[in-house]
Amino acid sequence: MNADDAGRSVLDVTNRLYSKGMNSTLSGNVSFRVGKDRMVITPSGLDKARIDVPELSIMDIDSERLVEGPKQSSEYHVHTRIYRILPEINAVVHPHSPYSMGVISALGADRVIDEVSKSDEEYGYYVTKAASVGIMKAGTVEIGNAVAKAVKDGARVVIMENHGTVGVGETMQKALDRVEYFEYMVKKLHIRHIEELYLKHPKGK
Ligand SMILES: [Zn+2]
Repeated sequence: MNADDAGRSVLDVTNRLYSKGMNSTLSGNVSFRVGKDRMVITPSGLDKARIDVPELSIMDIDSERLVEGPKQSSEYHVHTRIYRILPEINAVVHPHSPYSMGVISALGADRVIDEVSKSDEEYGYYVTKAASVGIMKAGTVEIGNAVAKAVKDGARVVIMENHGTVGVGETMQKALDRVEYFEYMVKKLHIRHIEELYLKHPKGK
């Protein structure tokens, strides 16, 4: 995969996340591995729904140095550390998924992962395994290492509590499928909980 093709794929997924309401203009980030040692990643501080391939950042994975393009996303540690630990992972997709974050902050990550994983036969096929790293400061080496460790331990969707989800895959499609499906499942869970509240408190009672 060359850098231009990788960049187009990054922008395609970035736009899909934005149009589905999973990211605002500035939140979240997406990357794609180029060759063994580099990655294309969305930049920092630009409206990601309106940028083109030359406005993406190319970084060296090992040194974490910017090779080409504007300043990279401040959350690049999550991406570089996943690529370093797992050579088979080629794409990392990080939305600030609103349903996942809201419901997890109300019910707790363990309960949400448990309920979502049991509510659909296809969960295992799409998500594989989800894990949570708790509340940590965004953009730090610590959160990068914690997410990479969860991926090494088998998670393919990692929840950064009060922040967002991270989906990884051998392909960009897989990484996107995983975070999108997880958000869709949490949205269904949310609707079910609202219905239960309605039943408990019917109109006028
Ligand atoms: Zn983020």
